[in-house]
Amino acid sequence: DPRTKGIASTIRVVPNFPKPGIMFQDITTLLLNPPVFKDTIDLFIERYTGKGISVVAGVEARGFIFGPPIALAIGAKFIPLRKPNKLPGEVISEEYVLEYGADCLEMHVGAAQPGDHALVVDDLVATGGTLCAAIALLERAGAQVVECACVIELPELKGRERLKGKPLYILVESH
Ligand code: IMP
Repeated sequence: DPRTKGIASTIRVVPNFPKPGIMFQDITTLLLNPPVFKDTIDLFIERYTGKGISVVAGVEARGFIFGPPIALAIGAKFIPLRKPNKLPGEVISEEYVLEYGADCLEMHVGAAQPGDHALVVDDLVATGGTLCAAIALLERAGAQVVECACVIELPELKGRERLKGKPLYILVESH
């Protein structure tokens, strides 16, 4: 799609953030360009409209930027998947391993239900650990994960292979 060119060109790459050696893909510059931000959301809406998706689950924090406009457009509920100790109600938790140490995502009990068809949204997939934890939370709640959707994939890290066989849809690749 020709719109992905504008998306790729408005993502800023910040070397050595948050630590030396990392080339950080910064989507905040994409958000400053309204036509490109709209193209980004439209591409997802076009793909997921009429597909029977009842839940869009967004991963803290940038899944909270891209997830809700998709959820509203396709008539799905939005579920925030949060870092530990942020959600006030009863939660289920899923720990996942990072390069150094571990992290955790939480979801409110009752947010997703058996029979829900879920889409997981985040800005970027690297090793796939975060999306894998998101899938696990939704499946523990009885939901069926239809697909994961991200703006950017770092294909060298092979995150796609960690997604328990779930399809991954991305708009741009970064090398
Ligand atoms: P993964 O779990 O290794 O796939 O890492 C993906 C998670 O880390 C996502 O929640 C991303 O928002 C975040 N992340 C990792 N690298 C970057 C980056 O270069 N830019 C923005 N977010 C990143």
